[in-house]
Amino acid sequence: MHVDDVRIVGLVTMGDGHTYSFAISIEPQFHDPVEGRLERLRARFAGFGPRVQEYFAALERDDQIICSAMEWVPVGKVYSGRVVLVGDAAHASSPMLGQGGCMAMEDACVLAEELRSGATLEGALASFAKRRKPRVEWVQQESLAVTQFQALPIGSRTIALRESGDRATRDQQWRHARCSCSAGCPNHQSSFNITSDRTGTRAVPSL
Ligand SMILES: Cc1cc2nc3c(=O)[nH]c(=O)nc-3n(C[C@H](O)[C@H](O)[C@H](O)COP(=O)(O)OP(=O)(O)OC[C@H]3O[C@@H](n4cnc5c(N)ncnc54)[C@H](O)[C@@H]3O)c2cc1C
Repeated sequence: MHVDDVRIVGLVTMGDGHTYSFAISIEPQFHDPVEGRLERLRARFAGFGPRVQEYFAALERDDQIICSAMEWVPVGKVYSGRVVLVGDAAHASSPMLGQGGCMAMEDACVLAEELRSGATLEGALASFAKRRKPRVEWVQQESLAVTQFQALPIGSRTIALRESGDRATRDQQWRHARCSCSAGCPNHQSSFNITSDRTGTRAVPSL
């Protein structure tokens, strides 16, 4: 992972000589046409180190790059009649936690379980939605918090992480020690919210 004040480049080896990369830039939304995209990408990340430059230099065509805004779908009603939404269609969030694909697969597993065991379709879908809501909302909240961290100026980001990290870990251990329900319960997970005060932006763990 390569990071500066408002940008991130991740390089992920995929085996067999292939590398997948994602690049995130926090700025007002813009449209980037396919033509000339590769050159603009190289220029935008020109200040990054040699590994990133080597990767971008190995790209050959504009259409190797997919560019879009991060979409956000708040969790609402995910089913109606015989139609049910899973994955990003139901609860897309920023990719900062790297959990969106996992959430789609978990949705599929839980939906299959509920359809297999439910007495009625309506009951199965209601139970599916109830089981998934806290989990996907937690992922969305954490993902947003990481995005907000990333948007902080680098000095504030470092201070915020230093101040909140230890406390968040302690809170998580405290909640975990007192909770007897299964993994996936929101009580087992730490959380950051970003708040601002007159002395600057700081991050606090939410309870
Ligand atoms: C940069 C980035 C990095 C990410 N990294 C991770 C990660 O490390 N780990 C992780 O778990 N998740 C990650 N995610 C999130 C993950 O990619 C998504 O959450 C996941 O792909 C959602 O799966 P889905 O099946 O719900 O939707 P999609 O993957 O979007 O699949 C929907 C499919 O439907 C097709 N479609 C759309 N409209 C129609 C139509 N009208 N007719 C027929 N087909 C149609 C689309 O072409 C697409 O193939 C990342 C996302 C991004 C953007």
